[in-house]
Amino acid sequence: MSEKTGILAGWLASAQTVCTVCHTHPDGDALGSSAAAFHYLAALGKKVTVLLPDAHPVSLDFILDGTVHTSDPAEAAAALACSDLLICLDFNSLNRTEQLESACRSFTGPKVLIDHHEAPQEADFDLCFSRTGVSSACELLYEILLQLPWTDGDPARIPAAAAAALMTGMTTDTNNFANSVFPGTLRMASALLEAGTDRDAILARLYSSGREQRLRAQGDILLNRMVIIPEGAALIVLTSEELDRYALLEGETEGFVNIPLEVEQVRLSIFARQEGDRFRVSLRSKRGTSARALAMSAFHGGGHEQAAGGRIYMPQDIPGPEAASAYVTRAAARFLQENDAASDKK
Ligand code: 5GP
Ligand code: MN
Repeated sequence: MSEKTGILAGWLASAQTVCTVCHTHPDGDALGSSAAAFHYLAALGKKVTVLLPDAHPVSLDFILDGTVHTSDPAEAAAALACSDLLICLDFNSLNRTEQLESACRSFTGPKVLIDHHEAPQEADFDLCFSRTGVSSACELLYEILLQLPWTDGDPARIPAAAAAALMTGMTTDTNNFANSVFPGTLRMASALLEAGTDRDAILARLYSSGREQRLRAQGDILLNRMVIIPEGAALIVLTSEELDRYALLEGETEGFVNIPLEVEQVRLSIFARQEGDRFRVSLRSKRGTSARALAMSAFHGGGHEQAAGGRIYMPQDIPGPEAASAYVTRAAARFLQENDAASDKK
């Protein structure tokens, strides 16, 4: 057991009540790591509450089955007030917890980070487990759980519900083994399969349980709303009014951003959707183009090299929703031109 894991084990041993928190707009990895921590600690007799900064995709709700969770800020603050430990999952800076940030900052017990993004804000936490050489927060959490004395290196001792949640989060963050797969990722998958995790059931929930309307909307958006610019970027920008016409549920556009990268000349894909007074922006790129750099420079965001996110604010960045498309197009074109000019110089 490493020194850091030893410290965590000590804190866990003495804690009776634990909260977990993940990033805003929780994805499969955020939910999976939260649920896995819940089930592991609940099996040790801890009282655990999973804190969610806001709504999560309806299609991923199954990940939270059997957990105690809340996305209500007042309930979250009340849970934190009587907790001994806060475990922060799948983000690198407390500002990623958005409306829970102030409650998390004023929490007086130890804060533990378990994350796989670049540049963790170490000052925000008392103990940091942060590695980019893993597929997901779930994979890093799996490695940590394995080292804890209650598991003692035996994956079969991770409770089945925790193991299933870890497999689920790793599967969504790798896009079902399409990206960010490391040797350890396959070792984890193999060990969990051996321990009895039903991967087929997870895949059925993730990829074969969608609504017909979602698939039809995806087809229409790709056909009629995707623009490919000559610099090599595919752009999809949807205002609230346009989104309303598709009658989609929370989270049903997740994953759309990945599809345009199937086109050979597309090296950058951007999906932007209006949410109130802002657009939420998702970026994906092929190797050699940094989605993260563009998210940071043009969209107040960040993330991983090839998968990042950010926002466009109104009226600070654009006067109104109809200006979003031109803003995204200009940002992408300029970024790729500058990228090419820089690599020509090398
Ligand atoms: P998505 O496009 O799926 O929302 O996000 C892709 C990746 O970028 C995820 O790892 C997510 O955590 C990260 N990300 C999304 N938005 C932001 C942001 O505003 N700041 C940072 N630092 N990371 C983000
Ligand atoms: Mn993640």
